[in-house]
Amino acid sequence: GTVDHDCDVMVLGSGPGGYSAAFRAADLGLKVVLVERYAALGGVCLNVGCIPSKALLHVAAVMDEAAHFAALGVDFGTPKVDRAKLAAHKDKVVGKLTGGLGAMAKMRKVTVLRGYGSFADPHHVVVELTQGPAQDKTGAAQTVRFKRAIIAAGSQAVRLPFLPEDPRVVDSTGALALDQSPKNMLIVGGGIIGLEMGTVYSTLGARLDVVEMLDGLMPGADRDLVKVWQKMNAKRFDRILLNTKTVAAEAKPDGIWVRFEGAGAPAEPQRYDLVLQAVGRAPNGGKIGAQRAGVTVNERGFIPVDAQQRTNVPHIHAIGDIVGQPMLAHKAVHEGHVAAEVCAGELRGDAALARAAFDARVIPSVAYTDPEIAWVGLTEDAAREQGIAVTKGLFPWTASGRAIANGRDEGFTKLLFDAESHRIVGGGIVGTHAGDLIGEIALAIEMGADAVDIGRTIHPHPTLGESVGMAAEVAEGACTDLP
Ligand code: FAD
Repeated sequence: GTVDHDCDVMVLGSGPGGYSAAFRAADLGLKVVLVERYAALGGVCLNVGCIPSKALLHVAAVMDEAAHFAALGVDFGTPKVDRAKLAAHKDKVVGKLTGGLGAMAKMRKVTVLRGYGSFADPHHVVVELTQGPAQDKTGAAQTVRFKRAIIAAGSQAVRLPFLPEDPRVVDSTGALALDQSPKNMLIVGGGIIGLEMGTVYSTLGARLDVVEMLDGLMPGADRDLVKVWQKMNAKRFDRILLNTKTVAAEAKPDGIWVRFEGAGAPAEPQRYDLVLQAVGRAPNGGKIGAQRAGVTVNERGFIPVDAQQRTNVPHIHAIGDIVGQPMLAHKAVHEGHVAAEVCAGELRGDAALARAAFDARVIPSVAYTDPEIAWVGLTEDAAREQGIAVTKGLFPWTASGRAIANGRDEGFTKLLFDAESHRIVGGGIVGTHAGDLIGEIALAIEMGADAVDIGRTIHPHPTLGESVGMAAEVAEGACTDLP
């Protein structure tokens, strides 16, 4: 057939992985076509993920903080929330960022093709062009011929088959739309996304129930971190149902009636104004015609890759959520850079560039709840399970001048060191701004720092960041000024 676009690299999907790969490839001199079915670039993260959720979580955190201020002598009164205006604010934040990406693509002469892309063979992708907010197909299609491809088609929310099709049953995208004001809400799945959205809705006035199959909320994080969050947030919840399954639901005029099974589960169906499904995300590997390019997709929809982000087809790479856990934007970005550099290195005959590989030691995780929970590297629970000997340095924020001045001293900073080498292997923080603080610990792990390196680093006073240095001093027994 005819070829409408000829390029060095075709990038399928414009999320954090895809746009990072496309921009890096263009910066390295390659001709790039970026295929995206939505009008806005940025993928899940910018449009319906990281960014809009954080815009709303910021508002929720300020509201919660303001509510405590009466006790400090400043009473802001009862807040009046205009949901439409709040949603408009969130949309403006998203628009600023996605618009910025559009401008950057233009500046770099990246061709953006709007439509559903599907491989036709190992060197062609057919793009069914789309228009409008519902991604309607225009009926027209264009063919892109590429030397290399980078698959960055991401993931989508898992839908529980037994939950009814109803506007009162939403996934995170539906919850972010903010067009319902539930009095009570069920969160199915006690992971980061569910609890972040729950925080927003409870601050806006909803009572929460959360149901989780495992024996604790926020799986993956150390229990001591989660405990602090749970204590501070207990008042948001009517029920925290652990070791419990959601087994059936019925949409009735007065609400969604949900049935549970598990040790402490209520025997009778419970009524909710809104049900949020947040039970994980499934990769889009099965929806891009990968088989026609010969690319292996596993039974779960993930595309296996090597450290160079190469699939089983050597000139086709894959990055981001579609290649596996952790499904995080910062992981996708780094993988995107690797894939672009390998492509550019090979096409330009630059051996050093072609050797690029993903070799991050650690990838941090953050729950942007209030307080935030952040962790990186080895957790204490994992060390215990795996029988790895670690030395712990824990600095409670009740000893942090800044945390006390902020009226938020419930948190702590914890560092874990290899018991033999004394090098840092992990860290966890619970407290306000924990997500902003965890980067230093990730850097320390990447650099192979030990407790002395971190403890002797002068941190500005009074800051929450000091707690990282103090935790290191605790670990080396050098901290003498704890209360
Ligand atoms: P995606 O962002 O999923 O982008 C894939 C893109 O490909 C989409 O734009 C899609 O339209 C497009 N696409 C797919 N198939 C085709 C096709 N056939 N043709 C054309 N286009 C196609 N991560 C964090 O690190 N921090 C957070 O705070 C955070 N918060 C989150 C909050 C929520 C509510 C959600 C849902 C996710 C959050 N995440 C967060 C996860 C983060 O959004 C993902 O890890 C990240 O977006 C993955 O990037 P990606 O490039 O792999 O794919």
